Amino acid sequence: MHYLWQSIMKFYSTKHEVERVGLKKAVLESLPADNGLYMPEEIKQLPIDFFEKAEGLSFAELSFQFARVLMQDLVPEEVLRKIVHETVNFDAPLISLEDRLHCLELWHGPSLAFKDFGARFMSRLMSHLCEDDNAELDILVATSGDTGGAVALGFYDTPGIRVTILYPSGKVSMLQEKQLTTLGKNITALEVDGSFDDCQRLVKTAFLDEDLSKRFRLSSANSINIARLIPQCFYYLQAYMSLKNKSKPVYMCVPSGNFGNITAGLIAKRMGLPFAGFIASNNANKVFYNYIETGVYQPSKTVATISNAMDVGAPSNFQRILDLYGGAHEKIAQDVSAYSFDDQQTEAAIGQLHQQYAYVACPHTAVAYLGAQSFLQDHPDAQVVFQSTAHPSKFLDSVEPIIGTSVELPAALLKLKDRPKNSIPVSPDYAEFKAFLLSRG
Ligand SMILES: *Cc1c(COP(=O)(O)O)cnc(C)c1O
Repeated sequence: MHYLWQSIMKFYSTKHEVERVGLKKAVLESLPADNGLYMPEEIKQLPIDFFEKAEGLSFAELSFQFARVLMQDLVPEEVLRKIVHETVNFDAPLISLEDRLHCLELWHGPSLAFKDFGARFMSRLMSHLCEDDNAELDILVATSGDTGGAVALGFYDTPGIRVTILYPSGKVSMLQEKQLTTLGKNITALEVDGSFDDCQRLVKTAFLDEDLSKRFRLSSANSINIARLIPQCFYYLQAYMSLKNKSKPVYMCVPSGNFGNITAGLIAKRMGLPFAGFIASNNANKVFYNYIETGVYQPSKTVATISNAMDVGAPSNFQRILDLYGGAHEKIAQDVSAYSFDDQQTEAAIGQLHQQYAYVACPHTAVAYLGAQSFLQDHPDAQVVFQSTAHPSKFLDSVEPIIGTSVELPAALLKLKDRPKNSIPVSPDYAEFKAFLLSRG
C-alpha cells in the first residue's frame, strides 16, 4: 500500500515536453510523444554496505539486490525477484587474459548475445505490468537480424504477449533466420519481400494506424525502451564483483552502436559502482568518438562494417548520456574515453586474440579488445574489462577465414539448424500487411 506522502517514482522524457509517466506507460509506450527518451526521475545511491553484503551472492541475486535500489518500489519485491531471476538464468563469466586485461562474456543466454539481458527482462516486466488487463499485448518488431532473435527468444512463451517479427527475406544469416522462425507458440515471423527499411516502415506505419490501435494493444520492443537499460546494469556489477584484484582502477570497454549498453554502465556508476571510467569502442561509425574528440555531435550516414550490430550513424541513447551529464561535454569526456577502428584493424584483432590467447572473438568483441588495448597503452596504471557481446558462431563468415579453423557451434544453435523454418511471406505493401494483421484477429 502506498501512502499519500510516498510518491512513486516516475519517468521523464529527455526532451521535457511531455508529462512524467509511470513505469507501465514508459515501458509499454517505449518512446515519449516528444521523441525524447524516458529516464527515471531519481537514480538512487547503493547503500554503503551494499558491496559487503553482495559478497558471495549469485549473479541473479546480486542483480535483484541492485534492481531493488534502482527500481525502488515500482514493482512488488517478490515479483521483481522473480523477474530478475528469470532474466539472469545464465552466467556472465570474467576471463583474465592478462593481469590488467579481462574479458566479460555476455553471450551465454539463449540468443548468444548480450541483448538477451534486455529482452528477457523487458518481456517479463511487460507481462507483469499487463497482468490485470484483459487484452493481449501485441509486440511488433522489425529486425535486421540480431535484435529479432533476442526478442523472439526473450518473449517466447511469455503469458499475455504475442510477438510478430518482420525481417527482410534473404538478408539475415541462416542461423539468425532459424532463431526467428523455429520457435512457434506466441512468436510469428513475417518474411518481408523487401529491405530492413521496408520492415521498419511497415511497423512504424502500423503504430500510427488508428484502425489497428482500436483492435489491438500494440507495443514495440525496441532498443530504446527504458526496460532494457535496467538489466544491462547487472553485468557491470557482476564484473566488478568477479575481479579478484581491484588495486588498479577498473575501466570497462564497451563495443558501442546505439549506446544502450554503455548508458546502463553510466547509470550503474552514478549509483555508486566504483568503476574509474568507461571506454566506448566504435567501428567506422564514429559519431560518438568524434563527439568526445571535438565536443560536436554530428550524426552521419551509416557505414557497413563486419561488426554490423554497431553500424549506427545516430546513436539513440546519446540523448540519455547528455541528460545524465546535464549536457556537459567535458564531464562526459572525463568518464568516457572513445576509440574507433576500421574493419582491417578488427580482422587483425580477431587474429591476434586467437593467436595470443587462443580466444575466438566475434567482430564486436574484437573492436572492444582494440579499445582496451589502446586504453591500456595510454594508461599504464589501469586495468580494463572488455565486453564480449556475441558468440563468434553468429558471425562465422567473418571469423572462420581469419582463424583458419571452424568455430564450434554451441548446442543452442546446433539444435536450431535442423528445425524447419516457419515464416509467413508478406509483401512490403502496407495495405496488404494491415489486411494480414486484421485477418488474424
Ligand atoms: C547491439 C550490439 C552491440 C551494440 O550495443 P549498443 O547497446 O547498441 O551500443 C554490440 N555488440 C553486439 C553483438 C550487439 O548485438
